[in-house]
Amino acid sequence: MPLTIALATAVALAVFVAWPLLASETGAEAFLPVDVTPLADLKRRRMVVYENLQDLEFEYKAGKIASEDYQAMSANYKAEAAGLMSASLEAETASGSDAWIEREVSARRARRKSAPSPEYTCAECGFENPLPVKFCGECGAKLEPGGQKKVTSGK
Ligand SMILES: [Zn+2]
Repeated sequence: MPLTIALATAVALAVFVAWPLLASETGAEAFLPVDVTPLADLKRRRMVVYENLQDLEFEYKAGKIASEDYQAMSANYKAEAAGLMSASLEAETASGSDAWIEREVSARRARRKSAPSPEYTCAECGFENPLPVKFCGECGAKLEPGGQKKVTSGK
C-alpha cells in the first residue's frame, strides 16, 4: 500500500520545509547532533534563540535592521524562547527530577496564603512585609517583633 510511502514523504517534506525556517541564520550551529534527550534539545534550541536574539540586537545597533523589523523579529524570538522555556519546564516536571521544586513552590504559595505573617505587618501603614525585616518596606517605620509597634508611654 503506498499510503505509508505517502505519509513518509509528507513527513519528510514537512521537515524539509520547516528545517530551513528553524535553521535560518543559525548557520553551522543548527547541525549539531540531535541524538540528545528532549530536554537537552529544548535547552539547546533555547540557546540558539538567545544567540539569534543577540545577533539581532547587534545588527540593529549596527544600523543594519530597521526599527520595526527589529521589533517584530525580537518579539518572535522572545515568544519562541518563552515557548521553549515552558516546554522545558513541562519536560522537567514530567521527568520527575524537579518535581520537588514544584512541590516546594506550591507549598510556599499555600503558606503565604494561609499565614500572611502578621508579625511583620506595619503598624504605621498596614503594609504586610513578606520577609522578617526590622523596618517597614513601604514607609520605613521600625517594626517590633511580635506585631504591634510598641508605644512607649511617657519619656
Ligand atoms: Zn509601614
